[in-house]
Amino acid sequence: MNFDPIYDLIDWLNATQIGGGLTLFHLVMAVLAIIIGYSIVKGLLPAGKKKDYLIDVMCNDCGWVGQVSKFTKVCQQCKSLAVRMIKPEEAEVAKRRQKARKR
Ligand SMILES: [Zn+2]
Repeated sequence: MNFDPIYDLIDWLNATQIGGGLTLFHLVMAVLAIIIGYSIVKGLLPAGKKKDYLIDVMCNDCGWVGQVSKFTKVCQQCKSLAVRMIKPEEAEVAKRRQKARKR
């Protein structure tokens, strides 16, 4: 394998001043660090974030049980606003009851 083009590129980056004693090489490293840091943070967030804003609710109109966003408390079955928060354990029991009713 021939790495010469990469070394040439690094040499060029090191030789190109962008002011304040910094070179393009520093800039590229900073950008890479930001990209890597951002992708790590982005990769870690969704799992934790999802649980944070989803709440277990039960619909007072149609009896639907499920998870909705904290910010839009709307029944996903009948679009009613008459949903009330329930505990996760309650949600499990209610869901099981619903499934049993369907059978
Ligand atoms: Zn409903």
